[in-house]
Amino acid sequence: MARIGLVAHDDKKDELVAWAKLNRDKLALHELWGTGTSGGRVTDGTGLPVTRLLSGPLGGDAQLGAMIAEGRLDALIFFQDPLTAMPHDVDIKSLTRLATLYNILLAPNHRTADAVLSVL
Ligand code: PGA
Repeated sequence: MARIGLVAHDDKKDELVAWAKLNRDKLALHELWGTGTSGGRVTDGTGLPVTRLLSGPLGGDAQLGAMIAEGRLDALIFFQDPLTAMPHDVDIKSLTRLATLYNILLAPNHRTADAVLSVL
């Protein structure tokens, strides 16, 4: 069982839910964590339990980053919106930096997420 973080920016939340529905059976084998809104949307869409942290802009990204630094997350599915400026850009950079630093699996889009899920 892997510990997977789930996050999507607002314009990518529908895509995350659609991806989670398609991959529901595989995701059900793992422990799921998510930022507040993304985690809630995945649970609503799939019925899967997702432990919800704070909303991303209010500290949820930082909480996921801390989990990575503490060795408590194996993969991060983070559907990012590359076309919109985010007020919490520093938190997003920190989260992706820590995922890179600690060498965990990091998927910024659904095709990479498919590849990540296939190796967990
Ligand atoms: P949210 O956070 O799931 O609480 O909307 C995502 C984000 O960091 O933008």
